[in-house]
Amino acid sequence: MSNPLISSGYKPIVLVNMTQPKRRSHWAWGWEHKMPSIEERHRLAELLEGVLGIKAGEVEEAVPIQAVELPGTELKATWLDTTNDARIRHTYGRSWPDLMRGFLGDFGPAPLAVATPSSTEELEKVYDWAQDSGVKVQIYGGGTSVVGGVECDPEYPTISLDTSNLSGVLEIDKTSRGALIAAGAFGPDIEDALRPHGLTLRHFPQSFEFSTLGGWIATRSGGHFATQRTHIEDFVQWMEVVAPCGAVRTGEYPASGAGPDMNRVFAGSEGTMGLITKAWMRLQERPRYKAQASVKFAAWNDAIAALRAIAQSGLNPANARLLDSREALMNQVSFDGSNILVLGFESADRPLAAQMERALEIARDHHGQCDGAVYIDTNGPGAKESERWKSAFLDGPYMQSALLTMGVFADTFETAVTWSGFERLHNAVIANMKDVLKRTCGRGFLTCRITHIYPDGLAPYYTWVAPMPTRDRSAIEVWKTIKDEAMKTLRTNGGTITHHHAVGRIHRDAWHQEAGPHSIAALDAMKSSFDPKHILNPGVLL
Ligand SMILES: Cc1cc2nc3c(=O)[nH]c(=O)nc-3n(C[C@H](O)[C@H](O)[C@H](O)COP(=O)(O)OP(=O)(O)OC[C@H]3O[C@@H](n4cnc5c(N)ncnc54)[C@H](O)[C@@H]3O)c2cc1C
Repeated sequence: MSNPLISSGYKPIVLVNMTQPKRRSHWAWGWEHKMPSIEERHRLAELLEGVLGIKAGEVEEAVPIQAVELPGTELKATWLDTTNDARIRHTYGRSWPDLMRGFLGDFGPAPLAVATPSSTEELEKVYDWAQDSGVKVQIYGGGTSVVGGVECDPEYPTISLDTSNLSGVLEIDKTSRGALIAAGAFGPDIEDALRPHGLTLRHFPQSFEFSTLGGWIATRSGGHFATQRTHIEDFVQWMEVVAPCGAVRTGEYPASGAGPDMNRVFAGSEGTMGLITKAWMRLQERPRYKAQASVKFAAWNDAIAALRAIAQSGLNPANARLLDSREALMNQVSFDGSNILVLGFESADRPLAAQMERALEIARDHHGQCDGAVYIDTNGPGAKESERWKSAFLDGPYMQSALLTMGVFADTFETAVTWSGFERLHNAVIANMKDVLKRTCGRGFLTCRITHIYPDGLAPYYTWVAPMPTRDRSAIEVWKTIKDEAMKTLRTNGGTITHHHAVGRIHRDAWHQEAGPHSIAALDAMKSSFDPKHILNPGVLL
């Protein structure tokens, strides 16, 4: 999920009012105090109309949490939190339908209660109690799922199991460059604990601030960096999973050829097999040298050819983000119809002029124009400047919630496809999305950025913005029509249903088609072994 309107390069509209206490919004993205003010939203509306030609409506505010009504709960236990506040805050992730239902004050699927175990023993007691009392358990990490991964199944009495008390960096091995990290640790807490040791996990999904290590592994999250180890499972050496059948620990080796890799069974299992309680993560030294450049391309096909040549060159840039001309316009980084390639290299060990110069040479061979690169030694001046992208990148999602309050859809979908299959897929996405946005909303705006590159293919990331025909529950039906069209287009044109947004409930049927019946049956059998009474995450993934 990404910034629907604004990202690096654009002066952020969001003002940070630190006089208010820090508290997460019960319905929108992130902190309450970082939601753009009414004046900022008016400025955003002007920008939207001026740049995209989409007219926003009047600002409406969400139903306040105190006014939300929930179905009753009979559950009682000292270790269960049955307050409305806890139940509301554990009802949804942050997909567009989640935001909309939260905005309207509809928290019908709320869990009956919330448990927050702080040890394996407490977790096992929750499992025993749930198995004995016929209650299902829905695992909740940071609650940033965009695929319905934390929502309770209305068919069953269900509690939410929050991992936030299973937190912290537990052990660091500087010699082998690894750390044991508890699953409920949030991104900033992990980096804060590693920084004094000169180390980093270097995994920065856009949801970094509000998502957890366990959630990342359970969903195979993708980080900000464009090449090599793009997904979190590439950093896992071993993990502990506590399942209803008992605890499982995968092999504690830097590499092993013994049988199927159980890390890869649990990574992406989305809480259906057991709860990932901790993982031994591979770390890196904090990068000292950085090189950054931006290249303009008049023609999209030239930009794609340059990107492929860079992906297949072995240069492995940390960043190789290509914005199409509409994305560049929306982000206010280019107004002349150019496509923009943002290139970056990072190293803890050596200056990067040779790699950057070669990448720019490749770009120029494909008609790219660049005024030169910036080289930064983070031990010297300019270190702060090199980190500026991070706050703009992480604050982007506030705009999606702000646009919703003005009756404007903004959402994203992403995929991965081979280089040879890209043109067909991309053309189909443009044609089908244009058609469905016109049919459902009268008009719309679609942009593309390429977020990750591999020698054999690329990960395109699409953002669509459109006026909502109505501002009530029926907008969710409109969203579903658009989402279905996007999923069908990806599936029938060689793209995977997701490069890093996971499966959850929203992508489940499409993923079952992608995986095929034999694989799904095998995973079902594995689930029955780890979770014999099927108490965990019903309706998610399987
Ligand atoms: C604005 C925004 C930006 C995003 N950017 C990115 C991005 O850049 N890259 C990316 O990959 N994703 C992104 N996402 C999606 C989401 O942040 C990821 O899927 C993330 O990995 C979820 O982590 P979480 O801790 O919030 O997990 P949750 O949302 O709480 O849970 C996700 C799933 O994992 C299960 N789960 C959680 N913890 C555990 C555990 N310890 N053991 C077993 N199962 C568990 C849950 O039951 C659920 O099914 C974004 C989402 C939003 C809203």
